[in-house]
Amino acid sequence: MNLKDIGEFGFIKRITPNSVNNPKNVMRAIGDDAAVFDIGKNECVVLTTDLLVERVHFIKEALTGYQLGYKSLAANLSDIAAMGASPQHAFVSIGIPKDTSLEYLDEIYRGMKELAKQYNVNILGGDTTSSIVDLIINVAITGVGKKGSLLYRNTAKEGDIIFCTGFLGDSKAGLDFILKSEQPENNNEKRLFEAHCLPRPHIEEGLFLANSGAVHSCIDISDGLSSDLMHIAEESNVGFVLLEDGIPVSEDLLQYCKERGYSAVEYALAGGEDYVLVCTADSKKARKLEKDFYKTFKRTLYSIGTITKGKQYLMKTKDGTLIDVKPKGWDHFA
Ligand code: ADP
Ligand code: MG
Repeated sequence: MNLKDIGEFGFIKRITPNSVNNPKNVMRAIGDDAAVFDIGKNECVVLTTDLLVERVHFIKEALTGYQLGYKSLAANLSDIAAMGASPQHAFVSIGIPKDTSLEYLDEIYRGMKELAKQYNVNILGGDTTSSIVDLIINVAITGVGKKGSLLYRNTAKEGDIIFCTGFLGDSKAGLDFILKSEQPENNNEKRLFEAHCLPRPHIEEGLFLANSGAVHSCIDISDGLSSDLMHIAEESNVGFVLLEDGIPVSEDLLQYCKERGYSAVEYALAGGEDYVLVCTADSKKARKLEKDFYKTFKRTLYSIGTITKGKQYLMKTKDGTLIDVKPKGWDHFA
């Protein structure tokens, strides 16, 4: 058997057994957006890491150093957000081809440090090595959260309403410009490109959801709604029905897709790196959650479906038909 037969997530399942030798204080191991340890006094530490590899995650010529640095930290902050925690300390490791310009590397750190400053995050260490061909960046980050209010992937409940904290699919449209070697021309194309290059991690939203007392589970959208919601469903042993009508797509994406004959909903389902949060909430508390979210952020918390019993993953289309949802998001080996 080969890696591509089981995919990225089959591989993670395969390496999970026997990875915890001292379960004391481990509240969550492999399987969530971050691991969680109990440190007493009702506080928990969360810890996560993400690896970015040139030509796999980014094309050096297409992103500025600033954007690359910003994005590598943003991806990690987003996992902290998905746990409903506050970010704290980061480690940055980097494998650098020998001919890389110092200015480019300075820009990577400028992007990273500007975002770190925004969220009061320290960069406390890392590692530097050479790399033969590709640039490689790894960020690891810790956060803190309250024991009772952290948000997990495996705690969605039948009847929960599924919510999303922002637009989906913009980042994938932005990536199109890079993959097709095109320049974004008008303002709406530029905003899509920026959504891809400088994603905003939804830290405040994650903390709000964690403190609401209404939210049962949460994940960030790094691989695409269809794949990431499937993680919640699989980990929680539930199904879902998405409502096509509810899936939030920006005017920019609608315009982009209309001009090219693409489906905006397909972009939302398959597009990764939006770094918004998808959560599931107690249906009885859902109305208040929506209202409070709007009061706090002056933006909508989008209701996009419901959690169901069993293992069916469905979407109700605009004409009322139920169709199967397949994980169409990013898998490194599929
Ligand atoms: P995310 O997209 O939120 O970053 P991933 O899909 O990358 O999450 O990872 C899912 C889970 O698998 C996480 O708990 C992560 O720490 C774990 N994981 C991924 N790769 C490895 C690995 N090579 N060894 C151990 N755990 C891993
Ligand atoms: Mg994640």
